Amino acid sequence: MGFGGRVVIVTGAGNGLGKAYALYMASRGARVVVNDLGGAVDGSGGGSRAADAVVDTIRAAGGTAVASYDSVEHGDRIVASALAAFGRVDAVVANAGILRDTSFAKMTDAEWDAVYAVHTRGTFSVVRAAWPHMRQQGYGRVVLVSSSTGLYGNFGQANYGAAKGAALGLAAALAIEGRRRGVLVNTISPIAASRMTEDVMPAELLEALQPEAVAPVVAYLCHDSCRHSGRVVEVGAGWAAGVRWERSKGATSFARAAGGALRDESTPEAVAAAWPAVGDFAGASHPDSTQSAFEPMLAARALVDASL
Ligand code: NAD
Repeated sequence: MGFGGRVVIVTGAGNGLGKAYALYMASRGARVVVNDLGGAVDGSGGGSRAADAVVDTIRAAGGTAVASYDSVEHGDRIVASALAAFGRVDAVVANAGILRDTSFAKMTDAEWDAVYAVHTRGTFSVVRAAWPHMRQQGYGRVVLVSSSTGLYGNFGQANYGAAKGAALGLAAALAIEGRRRGVLVNTISPIAASRMTEDVMPAELLEALQPEAVAPVVAYLCHDSCRHSGRVVEVGAGWAAGVRWERSKGATSFARAAGGALRDESTPEAVAAAWPAVGDFAGASHPDSTQSAFEPMLAARALVDASL
């Protein structure tokens, strides 16, 4: 599965996972824009060294790459680098990220805003700049990056969890908007040893979780042969699994009058009585569109109307 000169932008490609994605896709024939502003894990500082080192490695191996040192907050400049060097953009991996961990009780506006700016605003900025080019050429692959914190939460990461949750909602909307023009948008929740995780995981676990084990999944999602869109994939240690929403069968929480007949109103007491059924996942469904999400509500309402 070669990339045949496809142009791939990888943001935050100077370290960790992004570096592994860039090296891997370049080794398969992609022309890569290696974007990284070269800062610390908390986003402070910067420099050209991180991106340059990855570009040098790619070129030394016979591949094709250019460096881009702009922050993802200036997505138009990163996409302009791709167009200037290669004349097109085929795929974007919105990977750049920082951490400003602290408990929510202590979180400052600056800690919230910095994480939002890189992850949420930055992802928006890069993907929006690439979007019209991909739509026009009728081809595009976009990979957004969530996290187990965005899916499940984690202490001390309310800012990061909110931003990583935003990636899921953004991808869900973009998958719908891009589909007719051949622009496919998927989200990964990776786990790997990097400077971001080196302090929070034991050494033997880090050993088993190399970024190189995530790169083939990202390469597949960026490849011509990938036909999926709107998927969420947890990936690490060479393992990958799809994640989806599950919804219980649900229950109508309309109140019942004495004698058991339904009344056309819900009450907290009726909700409490229905609550076990609301949380019972036996016979659950997996809605995958807003339309399929509405259907059971309307069906339940019709049943209530018929019985009133
Ligand atoms: P990392 O710190 O090794 O790499 C992140 C890179 O992003 C750095 O090189 C940094 O300079 C760059 N960057 C930061 N802000 C930038 C900006 N404004 N513009 C351009 N580049 C910028 O971290 P990593 O572990 O490789 O993480 C990569 C992505 O994967 C992040 O989005 C992270 O949230 C996500 N992630 C990682 C893990 C994990 O286990 N490592 C788990 C879940 C999610």
